[in-house]
Amino acid sequence: MKAVALYGDRRIDVIDIPVPTPPNGWVLVKSELSGICGTDKAFYTGSYRLFKTPLIPGHEVVGRVISGSEELTGMRVVSEINFPCWSCNYCRSGLYTHCPYKKTLGIDFDGGMAEYFIAPLEALHPFKGSPEKGIFVEPLAAVLRSLSLRPPKPTDEVAVIGTGNIAWLTVQVLKKLYGARVDVIAREGSTKAGEFTGIADNVIYLEDAPRSSYDIVFEAAGDHRAINIAIELARPTGVIHTKSTTGALASVDTTLVVVKELTIIGSRCGTSREFKKAIKLLENDVVETRLDKVYDIDDAREAFEEALNPRYFKISIKP
Ligand SMILES: [Zn+2]
Ligand SMILES: [Zn+2]
Repeated sequence: MKAVALYGDRRIDVIDIPVPTPPNGWVLVKSELSGICGTDKAFYTGSYRLFKTPLIPGHEVVGRVISGSEELTGMRVVSEINFPCWSCNYCRSGLYTHCPYKKTLGIDFDGGMAEYFIAPLEALHPFKGSPEKGIFVEPLAAVLRSLSLRPPKPTDEVAVIGTGNIAWLTVQVLKKLYGARVDVIAREGSTKAGEFTGIADNVIYLEDAPRSSYDIVFEAAGDHRAINIAIELARPTGVIHTKSTTGALASVDTTLVVVKELTIIGSRCGTSREFKKAIKLLENDVVETRLDKVYDIDDAREAFEEALNPRYFKISIKP
């Protein structure tokens, strides 16, 4: 089968490898569409060190079940990305996304940017929408995960830093599910800032953003340096959600964190609960998605290069 292979430092290839064989309790899935996310881009450029080489990326994936489950065969599914052991202390206490023995789809385990991938049966969820919608289940679940850790109140003033896909989804969740007031903070020259005028209360350029003014700051800039902007914008005792996984080190003004008594919350991908919620929101078109381009797997290099262009919300690859 054809598979996208990442080697780091912008080295990418489309290779021919055997179709994976699912072990007992696992399922073989034919990939229909895979989104390229910020983490994939960081793996591609090399800013985030690869956990295996080559890596077949793809954790925002939709496919159809081929074998391994009578119940699901032929059905369109999306996959949770954590494949835990189910027997360690984390797994037994419900924190299975932190299982130290887990494999993570498209991160340290070969993912969906191939004609086929395998996943444990319990990671798969049927999806009734289109593949073009389904690739947004994973990132939307990740957004829901963040906000579940400290749900915003309707009186909260929230700033979302960034104008990418995560920001696009976050603003809608904050407005539609939590009724919060949301300002989008864009950098000067952002080509996508204008797109947010219809869904956010305000779109403000960074230079004009009011300092120490927000109860919650959601950092979705895809830039490790944006944490300092979040620290500046948060009001005393405010909460910062940080979402970027660039793999790079940030220099942080910890004094300001102490003086303002800020809480910084990191959060990763969604659990089964957030996946189910994300599926409902997308199947029922509650959350609007932005997919700019679909590339054939043979053009994976072009797709990844294009995905680095900040003018796009989402680029995807069709195996
Ligand atoms: Zn991702
Ligand atoms: Zn475990």
